[in-house]
Amino acid sequence: MATKQAIVVGSGFAGLSAATFLSNAGYKTIVLEKNNQLGGRARQLSAKGFKFDMGPSWYWMPDVFERYFSRFNKSTSDYYKLIRLDPSYSVVFDENDKLDIPANYHTLRACFETIEKGSARNLDKFLEEAAFKYKVGINDLVYKPARSLMEFINFRLLINMIKMDIFGSFQSHINKYFRSKRIHQLLEFPILFLGALAKNTPALYSLMNYADIKLGTWYPEGGMRVVVDGMIELARDKGVDFRTSCEANGFVYSGNSIVGVKADHQTIPADIVVAGADYHHVETQLLEKRFRTYSDAYWDSRLLAPSSLLFYLGFNKKIEGLTHHTLFFDKPFGPHAQAIYESKKWPSDPLFYVNIPSKTDPTVAPENCENMMVLIPVAAGIEDKEEIREKYFDIVFDRFKTYLGDDIRKYIVYKKSYAHNDFRADYHAFKGNAYGLANTLRQTAILKPSIKSKKVKNLYFTGQLTVPGPGVPPSLISGEVVAKEIIKDFPINQEIE
Ligand SMILES: Cc1cc2nc3c(=O)[nH]c(=O)nc-3n(C[C@H](O)[C@H](O)[C@H](O)COP(=O)(O)OP(=O)(O)OC[C@H]3O[C@@H](n4cnc5c(N)ncnc54)[C@H](O)[C@@H]3O)c2cc1C
Repeated sequence: MATKQAIVVGSGFAGLSAATFLSNAGYKTIVLEKNNQLGGRARQLSAKGFKFDMGPSWYWMPDVFERYFSRFNKSTSDYYKLIRLDPSYSVVFDENDKLDIPANYHTLRACFETIEKGSARNLDKFLEEAAFKYKVGINDLVYKPARSLMEFINFRLLINMIKMDIFGSFQSHINKYFRSKRIHQLLEFPILFLGALAKNTPALYSLMNYADIKLGTWYPEGGMRVVVDGMIELARDKGVDFRTSCEANGFVYSGNSIVGVKADHQTIPADIVVAGADYHHVETQLLEKRFRTYSDAYWDSRLLAPSSLLFYLGFNKKIEGLTHHTLFFDKPFGPHAQAIYESKKWPSDPLFYVNIPSKTDPTVAPENCENMMVLIPVAAGIEDKEEIREKYFDIVFDRFKTYLGDDIRKYIVYKKSYAHNDFRADYHAFKGNAYGLANTLRQTAILKPSIKSKKVKNLYFTGQLTVPGPGVPPSLISGEVVAKEIIKDFPINQEIE
């Protein structure tokens, strides 16, 4: 059988997914990864007996992971064990006020009712609608390549989309059901990381509340890294060839097709190229200028999801008073969100998120120790320097001191910070972004950077800067969607002109 060689640039979730689908379909598939570890933003850092997931830490939408492995007649349980977290997460509203979000729905309803009378019934209605959006979203929308509006012109889908209130804002949608500021904060949190203010996010994204509340927060034993390891094992079984420390630095063309990828002082022949690296990097650094689809002005006009200032910290003692996932909402949400999305500057009173997997999993820290990741969402593209990082480190630990009644800085035995400059250096991230493009209405579906190059015949894109969007589940889906487009456009037995 004639075969075709597909080169996938980048080994994040999207690259891994695309490579596995292509190899499974018979394409000779090579993944080039600039770093010495596969997995992209989901790399793992090991130091002094601590293990840190450097990127994603929330395992949401378990059905999407299950569906991914089932496409290859496998199950997540063939690769890792999942634990449902209870509480799903905790929210600190001030030093004497912490709310644990229970995994059990009936307990959560009761908890809503104590915050706002009548809100339990409204939560039922709100989630009924969110469940519908999730079902239509996952089954009919996110698996579309969004190459043409025509894909969405289907009577049933149009009716469903009208029912989903796609053009309303998330904020006015919540206003219809709840008055309490606290409930608003709880329901807005999942979309904060999708990268926009509630007033600019389509109401469609209440589907994330369904994912949060009904589908639950899970933890893969060993950390998020085991998901990457499972995907690599599956990809290798399907014949994918991985090359690490192998940065792509340009292409060789014949007419308007790519025929080779330059990497590691050689040219690797290519019939098809899938760019799983940041879209902007590939367009501006790897492609010749005449082949770019989007101008600098286009990229500058895009609203990016937040970048992050992160701290990976090892403690020589157990930290009481914090759970596996804790959100510090003890400062007003508005000014921080405004600093991320509107004024684009460092926030004066940041909200932050704390992840301590050693609360659930003894294998990720030495005995009686704790591994902690602190994440402060901040605007992409702002100045990043050591003094700024240290200033925020102290802000966070002063807040811990107020909340925990102890200055836990003294128990730190390992510390590493990570922000914009590292995202740029490690992943070639545009403006040091962490999660790609914000999911605003003007950056959804066909309005996102296209999954297929408009100028190069055999160049495709996958990952968090194209459809369907940021996050691990969307990246898995993006890889599948792009592979299907390639299989359709370049069938394995058909000669390339
Ligand atoms: C701190 C943080 C926390 C997050 N938390 C969550 C979470 O809890 N849950 C969730 O669902 N999502 C989360 N996300 C988002 C999620 O991790 C990303 O959306 C997803 O991992 C993106 O995958 P990707 O394949 O698109 O890109 P990436 O993971 O960035 O992969 C791209 C790869 O391309 C490589 N590359 C770049 N240039 C080249 C080149 N020239 N040659 C070769 N290789 C190259 C990079 O090194 C990288 O490995 C988080 C992200 C971050 C950063």
